[in-house]
Amino acid sequence: MSTTCLFCRIASGEISAALVAERESCLAFRDIAPQAPVHVLIIPRTHASSLNDSSANPVLADLLALARDVALQEGIAESGYRVVVNTNDDGGQSVAHLHLHVLGGRALRWPPG
Ligand code: AMP
Repeated sequence: MSTTCLFCRIASGEISAALVAERESCLAFRDIAPQAPVHVLIIPRTHASSLNDSSANPVLADLLALARDVALQEGIAESGYRVVVNTNDDGGQSVAHLHLHVLGGRALRWPPG
């Protein structure tokens, strides 16, 4: 855990977040600035700075499975949703702790811009 990483501090409970689901290796909470009616972030409990960080390898399947479970739980699995992993500067990543965005509850445009 990094004591300066925002999402590590959320994972440890030091900073509160609106929890949606928890698993042994990862957790899901609502994005503080939602871009869609459903906007949930999925993070590994162990720090990995981005999808490029190979230390995330053991939990990648868990993260994707939790994204699917959250979509079901939030009632958007049938209507449809998007899972996004912004990575580094050109990808628009602003928090350097690997996270998946689960977005849904409205029709999402493509390309994302
Ligand atoms: P990204 O830009 O892909 O790195 O996504 C980071 C996301 O974290 C943004 O959508 C922010 O709105 C969200 N965020 C930042 N701080 C918090 C927080 N304290 N609780 C929940 N979401 C946050």
